[in-house]
Amino acid sequence: MNTLDPLGVPADADSPPQPPLPARPPPPLAALRVLLFDIDGTLIKTGKGVRRAFKSALLETFHDVGRLDSYSFAGKTDPQIVDAVLEGSSVPPAVVAARRQECLDRYLANLEAEARGGAPPGAVLPGVRELLDLAASERRCALGLLTGNVAAGARLKLGALGLVDYFRFGAFSSDRPARDELPIVALSRARALFGDDLHPRQCWVIGDTEFDVRCARAGGMRAAAVATGSYSREALAAHAPDVLFDDFSCPAEVLARLLEDGPPGSTAPRP
Ligand SMILES: [Mg+2]
Repeated sequence: MNTLDPLGVPADADSPPQPPLPARPPPPLAALRVLLFDIDGTLIKTGKGVRRAFKSALLETFHDVGRLDSYSFAGKTDPQIVDAVLEGSSVPPAVVAARRQECLDRYLANLEAEARGGAPPGAVLPGVRELLDLAASERRCALGLLTGNVAAGARLKLGALGLVDYFRFGAFSSDRPARDELPIVALSRARALFGDDLHPRQCWVIGDTEFDVRCARAGGMRAAAVATGSYSREALAAHAPDVLFDDFSCPAEVLARLLEDGPPGSTAPRP
């Protein structure tokens, strides 16, 4: 009986088995572009259950939610949110610092319970899945995360929406609580995977707030802003990202823009 070779062409039963095709060599390191995605407002529209999970965690841990109800989470890291909302509350800063981790653990448990109870952590934003599919099939791209979520929270949110497997690595607020310190974490992880000569300018920080743009600058990386969170296009433009998208509804154009950039070391902002 004839067998099929890898291209689907019938092979002669008497011919010896064909050796597997050699794997394609990886592209040169200088051609690689590392795309570091923020999560909330960038990949997903965050569900109301996330704020509920945070509120319950603050109540359970500190019996006070401070100014949570009027506080914007946009661009903030999870540990920062705990500190900021309780600033000036009945809870002394030393107690906040001592029990911050306990609060974040409770938040994760609550987030899991919300998901189990049928409240998804959010909805995937338009074009995101297609953009990730395209980027994953592009040999010059590596996909990572750079997010204010703690790592377990990122896994939970993206896992619930079927997005987690796109990402090989990430930098999270459980690594460093300040967003501006996350690019160095992401760079070090990317270098461990792809090579020590990876230049920060080969990395894009992709996010929906001024804080994403600012942290890209802090790490010497390029900033791609997208107006799908709480910042308008005009508000983001004021922070001069290298590229600015209304949304990811034209994923091929977005990816082409991220791949057409200049050589590492080029610092000229793009129009
Ligand atoms: Mg965001």
